[in-house]
Amino acid sequence: MIIVLQKDATENHLREIVNRIKDYNLEPHVIVGVARTVIGLVGDKNGLEPSFFEGLPGVEKAVPIMAPYKLASRDAKGEDTIIQIGKVAIGGDQLVYMAGPCAVESREQILETAYAVRAAGASILRGGAFKPRTSPYSFQGLGEEGLEYLAEAGEVAGMLTVSEVINPSDVELVSRYVDILQIGARNMQNFSLLRQVGHMRKPVLLKRGLSATIEEWLMAAEYIMSEGNYQVILCERGIRTFETATRNTLDVGAIALARRLSHLPVIADPSHATGRCELVGPAGCAAVAAGAQGLMVEVHPNPDVALSDGAQSLTPRQFAQMVEAVGRVAEAVAPQATDRWPERNVI
Ligand code: PEP
Ligand code: MN
Repeated sequence: MIIVLQKDATENHLREIVNRIKDYNLEPHVIVGVARTVIGLVGDKNGLEPSFFEGLPGVEKAVPIMAPYKLASRDAKGEDTIIQIGKVAIGGDQLVYMAGPCAVESREQILETAYAVRAAGASILRGGAFKPRTSPYSFQGLGEEGLEYLAEAGEVAGMLTVSEVINPSDVELVSRYVDILQIGARNMQNFSLLRQVGHMRKPVLLKRGLSATIEEWLMAAEYIMSEGNYQVILCERGIRTFETATRNTLDVGAIALARRLSHLPVIADPSHATGRCELVGPAGCAAVAAGAQGLMVEVHPNPDVALSDGAQSLTPRQFAQMVEAVGRVAEAVAPQATDRWPERNVI
């Protein structure tokens, strides 16, 4: 159940309502929106009726949420969540680009990439330091040294940073260096990792699992939010299908559906979705046309010698061309309000 507060509800009202929720042995999650504050109730709600709360001062309504994910649900919060980090807003009207190499390989490599992708329009620098490689013999990343280079490059290029964390015990460490914590596809259902990043007060980029349903993906977001971290960015990065000509299959419909089912920002990663540099631009255009509010793209100064994912990495020049093409698509489809595409029963 969620409780929607009146627009003019006061701090005192909020406190009283929270106390009442605790009296029922439930955990209140206060989510402050631009237009309204809502409180999500987590715990055993057996026998609890909306009417228990509807009479309280400051309460507009109490609504049961049918979806298994509660805090992530669009029913809990009608307005889009915008995650503001410094000057960058993720989930707003402006497309956000997160770009950089699959893995940080050296100080020079990440610095060169940072300047190039920044010039092309990216505001967030990506780079893996702890790599979840399929083979134990492949390059595993530079670890903390990689995070140091990433942080320095972000700083000098004036960009935010994002990097993957694969171990619950590394969450604190990675948090010290980056602005956004990335949970990779292979770890989408690593529940202790999800809970650990849920304890942080730092935005989390949550990739969809290789074979995860949309509901499982949103339940993974719920794990993070249930620990009190509401700053979750959903990232569609392709799913595993029978097709082998592409690395994965970009699930464009999932982007449009996630925008409907959840208030959280949704972005796409056309690099891992396709695995082929010549498909990254077209897939990025399709993702944005479907409602993606940003793109994560792998860019390497010299993809031929990349230590990981060279085949799908764009050169800085290709990335700049892609940003231009995607920008034209974004202009053509804006605004992406879901009410442009009503469900049949509301036409
Ligand atoms: C990555 O972003 O480098 C990565 C490993 O992505 P994914 O978890 O989507 O495979
Ligand atoms: Mn990669």
